[in-house]
Amino acid sequence: MVIGQLRSKLRGELRDNAHEADWIITHVTGLTQTDFVLHPRDITNEEMHEIYDIVNRRLSGEPLQYILGETEFMGLRFIVSEETLIPRADTETLVEEVIDKIGNKKKRVLDIGTGSGCIGISIAKMCKNAKVTLLDYSDAILDVAMKNAKLNGVEVDTIKCDILEKIPDGKYDVIVSNPPYIETDTIFSLDNIVSSYEPLEALDGGFDGLMFYRRIAEIAQDIFDGSGFIAFEIGYNQGDEVTELLKSEGFSGVKLKQDACGNDRVITAKLKQNIFDRGD
Ligand code: GLN
Repeated sequence: MVIGQLRSKLRGELRDNAHEADWIITHVTGLTQTDFVLHPRDITNEEMHEIYDIVNRRLSGEPLQYILGETEFMGLRFIVSEETLIPRADTETLVEEVIDKIGNKKKRVLDIGTGSGCIGISIAKMCKNAKVTLLDYSDAILDVAMKNAKLNGVEVDTIKCDILEKIPDGKYDVIVSNPPYIETDTIFSLDNIVSSYEPLEALDGGFDGLMFYRRIAEIAQDIFDGSGFIAFEIGYNQGDEVTELLKSEGFSGVKLKQDACGNDRVITAKLKQNIFDRGD
């Protein structure tokens, strides 16, 4: 079968996910989309088998990113594995905010709950003077993040730490995080693809979804070297609550930023050292 024919056949079969047809074909054949048009060729039997293995898994609901083991984020390639959440386009809004803020300044950045590493690694790639540390609670997750750092040619540090139990060592100027933020009870009512394939630990934000924001806001003053900047991804309906929470921990200049769909998606704020406010 010629590539053009296969392409239309797959688009039909993939229905709502028709746009994934080209992604699957390029992954298996190594051809680019330009090749499809300029240098079309027959698909070999072996390729056909491989393509249909992928399509069948896809049709049973498995996310394509897990089947192919990779995805794109901020124009970079990232390995994904079952231990980590698939990087989302929404999260690019968070990364862009931090990149805007840091520019070429020398800043120490801590990415809390780094998962695949997509946030910290994109920042390290685009802000040449940033010194980025990726934090997560398990070695398996940090392994994935380090593979991604290598794949993208950036040097980053890692810290294994469960921030709910312990305050991480070191001092930083910027904290960035896309923590789990879904209310425990809501997780099972999500699009079941998300809850059956993605790691629950990456989604569960406790009874009110705010557990990690609360904890990070509380320990931020111990992580910053006096003062610092914080940037969180949030759920579309968490803007007011997280604003209050940050203010109650002494943050100022709280700003919300919307994603491409117009929903609140990112919150940023500053913490300034207040010499009259330090009890010890
Ligand atoms: N920080 C990672 C990401 O943005 C993981 C987020 C998470 O596990 N909740 O993809």
